[in-house]
Amino acid sequence: MTNKYMYFVANWKMFGDFKSLKLVNKVISFSKKFKSSKFKIIYLPPTTLICPMAQMVKNTKIEVGAQNCHHQDNYGAETGSVNAKMVRGVGAKYVILGHSENRENGESDKLINQKIKTALKNKLKVIFCIGEKIKDKRNKKTKSVLSKQIKLGLKGVKLNNNIIIAYEPVWAIGSGMIPKSNELFNAIDFIKSRFKQNLKILYGGSVNDKNINELKTIHNIDGFLVGGASQNSKKFIDIIKKTYN
Ligand code: PEP
Repeated sequence: MTNKYMYFVANWKMFGDFKSLKLVNKVISFSKKFKSSKFKIIYLPPTTLICPMAQMVKNTKIEVGAQNCHHQDNYGAETGSVNAKMVRGVGAKYVILGHSENRENGESDKLINQKIKTALKNKLKVIFCIGEKIKDKRNKKTKSVLSKQIKLGLKGVKLNNNIIIAYEPVWAIGSGMIPKSNELFNAIDFIKSRFKQNLKILYGGSVNDKNINELKTIHNIDGFLVGGASQNSKKFIDIIKKTYN
């Protein structure tokens, strides 16, 4: 049972169409009735759904964010890209940057750093993802990987409550595996120790309606980033409910 203010972030990745919006309606109804008021829900739909979703969640406890944005601040000849202004303009309040799936597709720490700066300049809050790969974990390099990602990703960034960190071990994403509780506590503790400010640190990686009972006992976590399970409104609602039970 927690009494803490918690974040629940739904990362839909490259899933979802207009019909999927009805899932959000269920979560809106739930959020209006739920006994605790100490939580925030953030949906990160594909770009195509930011605008309709942002309209739906007006005057609710739910906010919407984008899954990426271009590093350039201005409009330009960049076929297939959207910039921070564009997503902000259609209702996004957040953007998730540094996700391992995008790092895997070639996004460097430097590029992520540029994107973070551009996003903040355009008044988006940033959910900044960091996490080690399985080989880093095996080689006991978790802390050095996290330090490097933080140092390079946030270089020259003025930190305040506009940055939320999401700790997502790459090996835990979509695999059904989660870190051992003590390992997770220590990783979150280590990340917190890298900052003078009291930043919110979320955990992401195979969070579901079963393992939430274990995850919620790790008291230094400020919320959960949920991928697969967030595409099912019942599971997503259960994750929130169980966190408070
Ligand atoms: C993610 O990719 O951000 C994520 C948390 O995915 P999943 O919950 O499916 O592991």
